[in-house]
Amino acid sequence: MQSGTAEKPSRNPTKSQALFVSDIHLAESRPNTTNAFLDFMAHQARQSGRLYILGDLFEYWAGDDDIENAWNHRILEAMRQLSLTGTAVFWMPGNRDFLTGERFAAESGAVFLPDLHDDVFGELKIAMAHGDAQCLEDTDYVKFRMMVRNPQWQQQFLAQPLEKRKAIIESFRKDNHKTNETKPDTVWDVTPSAIDEVFSRTGASTFIHGHTHRPGIHEHGGKKRYVLPDWDLDSAQARGGWLELTASGKFVPHPVNSTI
Ligand code: MN
Repeated sequence: MQSGTAEKPSRNPTKSQALFVSDIHLAESRPNTTNAFLDFMAHQARQSGRLYILGDLFEYWAGDDDIENAWNHRILEAMRQLSLTGTAVFWMPGNRDFLTGERFAAESGAVFLPDLHDDVFGELKIAMAHGDAQCLEDTDYVKFRMMVRNPQWQQQFLAQPLEKRKAIIESFRKDNHKTNETKPDTVWDVTPSAIDEVFSRTGASTFIHGHTHRPGIHEHGGKKRYVLPDWDLDSAQARGGWLELTASGKFVPHPVNSTI
């Protein structure tokens, strides 16, 4: 990152209430995405009272002992610095980084949220989820999720050496790639009945989630559903962004600066 005009603080003295991001899919092999995220953390995120990271920040997370890795440490340090400079950082694990645990929380300074959480901003109640738990048509995945979210399974998995865990995750990913190619398109989106349930369980008027990589705004019986974009600044179709809840309570989507 070069210093220049981007280093100057925002001219707007009014902080946003919150920023929402998900599916950044950080990996050491994606340097542009990593730089864009670190730039976002050092600039835009500091202009907000809160930052909600709604899962899949990492391409995968094999366990908190991987914090020793210098690259992982750098990401956690960016989160910690943000929380130290006055932006509350909230963390909801996704389907790729659900093995983040207590050490991750302690070292990142982030407050863990359950998958399906709601917060009130003035008059507005917002429900948040990663999004995978609302994709019920992918029955193979629903079964897989039940298995890996089981504390006993996690305990056994985490008892294995880090390198072995990484190899297992890589093999899951290869298998997924193969089976996913044959699935119909609707499998990749949320199921309407699951969205009904989010609104009825939380009483929220707005639902924000990621996971599907289909950014957009949807009306749902007078309520609104915002889908966050995934980030990839290392492919030909550079993309990414976040959703802002402004000081006055408006939602504004922002594209990531792909020239960093
Ligand atoms: Mn996901």
